[in-house]
Amino acid sequence: MTLQEPVDVLIIGGGQAALATAYFLRRTQLSFLLLDDQAQPGGAWQHGWDSLRLFSPATWSSIAGWQMPNPEPGYPHRDAVIDYLAQYEARYQLPIVRPVHVDSVTHDGELFVVQAGSQQWRCRALVSATGTWSKPFIPSYPGSAEFAGEQLHSAHYRNPQAFTGKRVLVVGGGNSGAQILAEVSKVAETLWITPEPPAFLPDEVDGRVLFERATERWKAQQEGRVIDQPVGGLGDIVMVEPVREARERGVLVAERPFQRFTEEGVEWIDGRREAVDAVIWCTGFRPALDHLQCLDVLEADGKVTVDDTRASKQPKLWLVGYGEWTGAASATLIGVTRTARSTVNEIAEALQGDTDQ
Ligand code: FAD
Repeated sequence: MTLQEPVDVLIIGGGQAALATAYFLRRTQLSFLLLDDQAQPGGAWQHGWDSLRLFSPATWSSIAGWQMPNPEPGYPHRDAVIDYLAQYEARYQLPIVRPVHVDSVTHDGELFVVQAGSQQWRCRALVSATGTWSKPFIPSYPGSAEFAGEQLHSAHYRNPQAFTGKRVLVVGGGNSGAQILAEVSKVAETLWITPEPPAFLPDEVDGRVLFERATERWKAQQEGRVIDQPVGGLGDIVMVEPVREARERGVLVAERPFQRFTEEGVEWIDGRREAVDAVIWCTGFRPALDHLQCLDVLEADGKVTVDDTRASKQPKLWLVGYGEWTGAASATLIGVTRTARSTVNEIAEALQGDTDQ
């Protein structure tokens, strides 16, 4: 076993949330280290499907300090985000150890002990920034095990080729569902299943507008004001070009969920059956927090109770980038800056408080 010198702050993760937090830590006197289980930089963007593009321009898709270069007009491809994050780490010389998968975190007196296989690190404060990509969520439907066809989560979807000529069910009413449906429907017969009618944003609304609205909401919340905003959240469907094109072809028509799986397909409550070859689940993710199990902070819903980003039950533990529950728009590139900054301010204050005592 390698026993390392304790650091002030250890960040678990190496995606945009971890890098943004590290950016602000660099401006303090605190020592810090990042542990990421991927072999390369880029976090979850490395696993996005082949055609995945951001839904906002580079100027609205950057993390703290340095704007994403825009290699081509339009919305950046996921490879541009991966390049950006790789360059960002190098630019700020962030101390990242890869690949290191953190299995568990425990206590040794005032220190956290972070265990990764046979390696161990200790730290005074801990930031969990492990994202959600490694925890794809699939809702349970009766008979799912009987279904003989293929089932795939959007986390593992790459491109439509494998579905050519098949009958495919796309489940999920968010941006992933709409975008995957748009391209699979060009090569396959598709059926779109969403629990509620999908919420399409007007054509002229893209990520920019959503972030502006999220910021307005955040400001109003801070000031105790109530504001009137048009309906539309970060989960609503942005009408990017391929989705608009699918609308023109008439494939953006969604049905409410079936009741159960059969061996050949699915069956609705009225007995109607549909034979399908494959199901693509675009049904979202859960926070990847298994490594915090021993700290007794995980609630029944798989989240951690936080005051802003600080764990209520563990005052030296912070969670960054998981979603609205860890800060407005914190699971987006541009949105994570605000929570990364406030998290580092809190950490600096908490550790300074220890030194003063
Ligand atoms: P991640 O990128 O997942 O980084 C976490 C890192 O921690 C990963 O490298 C992971 O492997 C590692 N890790 C996990 N567990 C451990 C462990 N136990 N030990 C060590 N390392 C671990 N946002 C936008 O701003 N604009 C968009 O257009 C946009 N489009 C999106 C489209 C899709 C389809 C999806 C799913 C998301 C999109 N997002 C978009 C949202 C968001 O930007 C991404 O989800 C982003 O990757 C989240 O960053 P993160 O740093 O929180 O997590």
